Amino acid sequence: MKKPDILIVGAGINGLVAANYLQRSGCSVTMVERAERVGGACVSAVATVDGQSQHYALGASVLGLMQDFVFEETGLSGRLQTFVPQHPKFVYFPGDDEPAWIFRNPAELDRELANKWGEKGDVEAFRADEARIVSFLQDGYINATPPSIVDAKRVLGDTLTDLWISGTAKTLIDHYFTSERSKMFLAMTVTESGPVSLSDPYSAFTLPLMNSGSVFSGYYGFVKGGIWQITEELGKINAELGVQIHLSSKLVDVDTAKGSARYERAGRAQKLDYDYLIMGTDPLTATRLVGNPEQIENTEGQRFRGSSGKLNLMFRRPVRWKYGSDASDSDAAFRFIFSVADIDEYEAATLKVLDTSIDYVPGYMQIYCEGAAMRQINHSEPFDRLSVFFKNLSLGVSGDELPDVERQVKEKLFEHIENPEDCVWTRLLTPRDLQQLFHFPGGNLDHTMLTGGQTFFDRTYADDPATDFYRFGSLENVYLCGSGTYPCGSVTGTPGYMCSQQLLRHVGLV
Ligand SMILES: Cc1cc2nc3c(=O)[nH]c(=O)nc-3n(C[C@H](O)[C@H](O)[C@H](O)COP(=O)(O)OP(=O)(O)OC[C@H]3O[C@@H](n4cnc5c(N)ncnc54)[C@H](O)[C@@H]3O)c2cc1C
Repeated sequence: MKKPDILIVGAGINGLVAANYLQRSGCSVTMVERAERVGGACVSAVATVDGQSQHYALGASVLGLMQDFVFEETGLSGRLQTFVPQHPKFVYFPGDDEPAWIFRNPAELDRELANKWGEKGDVEAFRADEARIVSFLQDGYINATPPSIVDAKRVLGDTLTDLWISGTAKTLIDHYFTSERSKMFLAMTVTESGPVSLSDPYSAFTLPLMNSGSVFSGYYGFVKGGIWQITEELGKINAELGVQIHLSSKLVDVDTAKGSARYERAGRAQKLDYDYLIMGTDPLTATRLVGNPEQIENTEGQRFRGSSGKLNLMFRRPVRWKYGSDASDSDAAFRFIFSVADIDEYEAATLKVLDTSIDYVPGYMQIYCEGAAMRQINHSEPFDRLSVFFKNLSLGVSGDELPDVERQVKEKLFEHIENPEDCVWTRLLTPRDLQQLFHFPGGNLDHTMLTGGQTFFDRTYADDPATDFYRFGSLENVYLCGSGTYPCGSVTGTPGYMCSQQLLRHVGLV
């Protein structure tokens, strides 16, 4: 039998994972990537201060949502070293002298939240139910089963399905928790990439979804050197497997009937024929290249908005936190700082930035202590680095045009740091920058918002998702597996893996 020729467009994590599985399963894979390197939104950039240079994470920073079997089967686990802080996270609310500790152990967490936040709900029940949903999702990932409410109800029952999948985040959170602070801590996950209301249908689903990684058993951690090692290394592994890749090559035209595509490289047009085309891009790019006018109109009508910003900071000497513990990994613990005091204020701040004339409404910031994490794995660098992922920004303007927003974010962060004077370099990225740098349609990290009509079983562009979830429309030989497809964005490769399995079943190679 002739090996199927697969053309994959886009060498982000999803295109790379799909290429890896397909090439190893006997297909002949060619990739075209418009950038001059692989990685998509999982890449580094370089900061130079006083002649000293250091790489930092331009897009993604932390790893966690990947599946353990993807990390192993692709060959990544044998080549990369990782570090996951064991230390409880620290959470600060306005007016707190001391942060709350987010313990891993549910009973310990129960006691901490009762003491610090007056929580009277049932943390243990929440964690136990969440584990059931996560296990259901993970089974679906590994078996590459299209998500469906019928399956969810069969496995989880009506009550858990309504509460955790099709319901609203507000109902879910109110069901298990009583304190405003616990509710805001959980709400953070729901609005992480975009301005989703906690009352949107299916907004509950984002909570188990974002904890359904298995590479670190649901936790988040770091890769030695930086998370971009994942895509760089996978690019190398794929090349060793025989995947052909054309960089600086932009796909411009597809003839789906003939199975041929045209890309441009250094101003010259090149043609490639394929048996199957996989779009590892955002859905808008994919639809404009392979869709009909109706599909283009439908995709353009989706909710795309992102509202997250990222501030990268370099410090001349290691950051000294005003609050920490004696544990050796205390400086590498995740830290969360809220600027809002209750859940209504939280929701209002989330949604306000839908108005593009409002640049910034403080909500919360998540601090990834990347430099401290590198020190834990004996990776030495010239500067200490933090990345601060924060809310809420509109799609208005680029970070360069918002010095006042940068000042506000730094001020809030520096309240917790003993040596702010050691900060020697910063770079602010807004949703507008993410749109321009990474071509994320509305600057959303998941390519499209995670909300009703475009999450769970609706996170597809197939005409018959029950059988061909990753197929594009009803085209026999075109698939779509970027982050806009199920389950979501992040450095996971799960859509790429699930799509590859569907295609392999289709051609009879598994
Ligand atoms: C600032 C920021 C912070 C983030 N933080 C995290 C984090 O900490 N942890 C985490 O897990 N995730 C994080 N994410 C999200 C994560 O990086 C993305 O969801 C993920 O990398 C997307 O992967 P992808 O393969 O689906 O798409 P992309 O990475 O968008 O890749 C698509 C590729 O397709 C290429 N392409 C598009 N059109 C064409 C064309 N016409 N021809 C050829 N090539 C084309 C693009 O150049 C790109 O390389 C973050 C993202 C950003 C931007």
